Amino acid sequence: HLRIGVLAFQGDVREHIQVLEELGAQVSKVRRPDELASVDALVIPGGESSVMDKLVRLFGMQQPLRDAISVGLPVFGTCAGLIMMADHIVDAIAEQESLGGLHVDVRRNAFGTQIDSFEVDLEMPGVTAEPVPATFIRAPIVERVGEGVRVISQLADGRIVAVEQGYLLGISFHPEVNGDTRVHEYFLGRVAQSVVEKKASI
Ligand code: GLN
Repeated sequence: HLRIGVLAFQGDVREHIQVLEELGAQVSKVRRPDELASVDALVIPGGESSVMDKLVRLFGMQQPLRDAISVGLPVFGTCAGLIMMADHIVDAIAEQESLGGLHVDVRRNAFGTQIDSFEVDLEMPGVTAEPVPATFIRAPIVERVGEGVRVISQLADGRIVAVEQGYLLGISFHPEVNGDTRVHEYFLGRVAQSVVEKKASI
């Protein structure tokens, strides 16, 4: 079994756990360094990134998370999770920090208040052949991609909503809320690959 941790300070932790368990992963909540050390990969859920950031620092997890990301832990961030992974938040609220590691700039709440929630069928070539129903909730967009970052999906107007950099996967929407498990399956495939790679390098 792949051991997947879900960062469990805030947000839709339960929904991710449910999807990952359904897909056969061994899932645990991560709030402490020792819990982080015992997983093959981490999911950072959607929620509110500024609150998540505060709790991460309060629990002394900022540095352990940054270290884990920098040595190649696969991480899948959805919505607020993507914001946490971004090197730069263009409209961070006062004192808000991200973990960084994913070389992108993100803008929070990028769709304004009028359409703060919507669903579209999203093309995700490379992840799955058929479009994925994607639920956006006060979602961020990726405004700049840096070196080594591959764009996985864009809205019809070109705005970037999914990116990948090595074993880091960041998406603007919430695949854990609508029963479509393909993006999680894709991530678990990546995690399996990273585990094989790690064993080969020992
Ligand atoms: N707007 C939230 C933030 O800035 C993200 C919303 C979400 O995760 N659904 O963190």
